[in-house]
Amino acid sequence: MNGSMNELELTGRACTHIVDIVDPACALHHEAVGAFLAMRAAALEEGLILVPVSAFRDFDRQLRIWNEKFSGRRPLLGRNGRPLQAATLTAAEIVEAILAWSALPGASRHHWGSEIDVIDSAALATGASPGLLLAEYAPGGPFARLHDWLSRNMDRFGFFRPYRTTRPGVAPEPWHLSYAPVSEGALDQLTEDVLRRALEASDIAGRTVILERLPEIHRDYVLAVYSRSR
Ligand SMILES: [Zn+2]
Repeated sequence: MNGSMNELELTGRACTHIVDIVDPACALHHEAVGAFLAMRAAALEEGLILVPVSAFRDFDRQLRIWNEKFSGRRPLLGRNGRPLQAATLTAAEIVEAILAWSALPGASRHHWGSEIDVIDSAALATGASPGLLLAEYAPGGPFARLHDWLSRNMDRFGFFRPYRTTRPGVAPEPWHLSYAPVSEGALDQLTEDVLRRALEASDIAGRTVILERLPEIHRDYVLAVYSRSR
C-alpha cells in the first residue's frame, strides 16, 4: 500500500521509512523523494531554487521542544504572539499555548517524511535567513513568486498545502507542503489510539492534561487540515 507506515514510523519513533538526500540536504519518505526532486527540477527552470528548511523530524526532537517550552527553558508564546510565563499558568493553559505554535510529539505531520517546509533560496538576500513568516509568501514578499509557482504547479507532482487558512487548530503555513500519496494514507492511520499509545510510552510534560484532552487535540490539530484540491 502506498505510504503505509507502522505505528512507530507514523509517530516519528522510527525512521525506517526515511531516506537522507544530499542535494538538497533533507530527509524524506522514500516514496516522496522522486516527486520532490522532479518538482525542484521544474522550478529550477523558472529560476526558483526550492530548498527544504525542514522535512522529516522525529518524535524525540519534537518532545525536546515541547518539554523545554513546558518548563520555561524555551520561550512560550500565546496564540496572539505575546510572551507568556509558564510558571504562572496551569498545565492546561501551557498545553494550549504550546499547541498554537508547535505540534504535539507524535502528531506532527513532519514525522511522516511527506512534509516539507520550503523556501526559494534564489530570492533570499545574501546572508539573510528566512523567518517562515506569512508576509514572506504574500504578494510583495521575497517568496511570492515561489508561492505563485507552487499554486499553479505542485498538484501535478502530488503536493498540496494542508495549512491554508486559520482553523481551530494550526495557523496558516504557506511554506508547508505535503506529498499526498504518502500523507493521505498516514492521516487515516494516525488515529487517536495510535497517538495515545505513543504519548503514554513517553515522558512528555503535561501528559495527564494532554491525554484527557486528546479527543479534541486529535480533532483540531490532526484532522482539521485541508486535503488536496479542496
Ligand atoms: Zn511544516
